[in-house]
Amino acid sequence: MKVQSYFYKAILLLISLSLTGADLYARAGGGGGRSRSSGGGGGSYHSSGGYHSYGGGSGGGGSLSGGEIVLVLVVIGIVVIYNYYKNKGGNEAGSQAYVAPSTPAASFPEGLTPQKIENSFRTIQDAWQNKNLKDARKWISDGVYQRYTAQFAMMNKLSQVNKLSNIQVRGLRLAKVNTDGKYQTADVAISFRMDDRFISDKYPQFNESFAGDEATEYWTFIRRGDVQADKDLYNTANCPNCGAPFETEMGEISRCSGCGTLTNSGAYDWVLSEITQEDDYSPDNSMVKDQQLAALTQHDSLFAVQRVEDVASNVFMQIMEVLTGDSDKKLSRFADKDTAASILAVKKQSGGFIFDRLYLNDVSLTHYDTEGERLNLHFDLTATYQRVRANGAKLELMDGDMAPHSFSMTLSRNLRSLQTPEKETVYSYECPSCGAPYNDTTDDVCTYCGEPVIDLDKNWVLTGFNMG
Ligand SMILES: [Zn+2]
Ligand SMILES: [Zn+2]
Repeated sequence: MKVQSYFYKAILLLISLSLTGADLYARAGGGGGRSRSSGGGGGSYHSSGGYHSYGGGSGGGGSLSGGEIVLVLVVIGIVVIYNYYKNKGGNEAGSQAYVAPSTPAASFPEGLTPQKIENSFRTIQDAWQNKNLKDARKWISDGVYQRYTAQFAMMNKLSQVNKLSNIQVRGLRLAKVNTDGKYQTADVAISFRMDDRFISDKYPQFNESFAGDEATEYWTFIRRGDVQADKDLYNTANCPNCGAPFETEMGEISRCSGCGTLTNSGAYDWVLSEITQEDDYSPDNSMVKDQQLAALTQHDSLFAVQRVEDVASNVFMQIMEVLTGDSDKKLSRFADKDTAASILAVKKQSGGFIFDRLYLNDVSLTHYDTEGERLNLHFDLTATYQRVRANGAKLELMDGDMAPHSFSMTLSRNLRSLQTPEKETVYSYECPSCGAPYNDTTDDVCTYCGEPVIDLDKNWVLTGFNMG
């Protein structure tokens, strides 16, 4: 048994080291779909986009017997010889030989140039390793912002930092362009390679480091159909509406301090709205083409499936923050009383924990129904994480490994509120009635206009949340 499983590992190692073709690279699982074995058979990889795992990486480091070490040396020898002959006969580029199929620049949708995409990719990697979104805030969705800020908060609790280096973008491929409500979406497959060190001085037991890992992620950009196409959020430092320079960090809300416009509304440029690992990606969501849902939401120019999924991911990350210690009151920005109570019961029962990594793999609107005046949107979510508990200088594991977990949630809103579009506000950070920012989360009503914060006539309200 042991030899057999070891042989399997050796084959995977051979494949991963020697074959760099897209179809042959054995990144089994990925996106957290497969957990690492503690014996070191698998590796993991985590860029800003999420958690990957793959068979046969170099990241494990379990103990090997003498016989196994000999076998490893034999395999490495074969790989070295193989690569030597491959490179000798081929071009000088050697390890550069693999480039993912790329779409010609002219084929990308208007305004979404390969240069802009690569720029956004590199900016996000920098933001991730520096745990600071200031250079990306103006062109990322609120959901993407919340995913990262929640992850940063988790990493900070464990003094973790993820350092990336030798970043190479190896291919950009346009995967799908879609019409979604009054918006357009574009999915771009980005293939890349980078070195990756996940480190904590305080809790080094989870430190990992990987070199030359390759992966493909699908980046979804969204833009309004009536976009002002002459604007460019990526290559200019000025407000697309009033022209004032952006001087300060925008933080939770991507509003220009000069004129108050929301830069990431999709009205000015493509906005990064989701990052999906290759194994979690599916190009089609039947809800986007659902005629009945389209009819129910036709008067709401701000409705799009991609946008409500963004709200769902935003809500999910805030729930995770509450579960790991944030103020319970945060829920009162978006959850109805019963749902908030059930989440707080789970929090109490868990006795407090921290995530050693938390990646939201996928959020999908799966179905909807109407209930009297109310439209209910039902989402399925998958997140990969490992829960730990701090015990002095030691961390106690609550889960044996990083593993994917399933959730579902319901967001509801009264149908009549979809008949008259509200002013566009930042979900759960601004009053849906008057647009004033919530200064704190302790009030049930807006401190400016007095309207209730939770209101099915104004905004999406979390009316159901289930784990597992
Ligand atoms: Zn402005
Ligand atoms: Zn208000």
